Amino acid sequence: MKVAKDLVVQFHYTLFDGDQEVESSRGGEPMAYLHGHGNIIPGLEEAMLDREAGDHFRVTVPPEKAYGEYQEGLTQRVPVKHLQGAAKWQPGMVAVVNTERGQRQVRIAKVGRFMATVDLNHPFAGRELTFEVDVVKIREADAEELAHGHAHSDGGHEH
Ligand code: ZN
Repeated sequence: MKVAKDLVVQFHYTLFDGDQEVESSRGGEPMAYLHGHGNIIPGLEEAMLDREAGDHFRVTVPPEKAYGEYQEGLTQRVPVKHLQGAAKWQPGMVAVVNTERGQRQVRIAKVGRFMATVDLNHPFAGRELTFEVDVVKIREADAEELAHGHAHSDGGHEH
């Protein structure tokens, strides 16, 4: 079976920003996604097409096919108490904030006693990212997964 639309793909990955390893699924459960539904960044999804279980590959994804270009001036002032993820904040740290469109990650640009200036660009905006991927398993999606537009874990439904 080759990766194609409406199939569930399980894979391990290591993500590099330049030469620096940023995150990896290895050592844990593989990542699972439903192909063709925008569940993963476009550049990685494109590189997955037609792969088979057991395939190993590296792909470098430009910002426009990852988390977008970095936009200058995309900052906002928010109350420090709305920042989630740490007790004390310093510039450069990544916080989670609730917005009308759900939770998002922001980078702290400046922080005062009550108000912080946060950078709304995704932490990987403007970055060229390299993924080292091992395709673990490819399977048919079930009807519920197709209806939801995403993969469920083998153990069942988790949301
Ligand atoms: Zn679901």
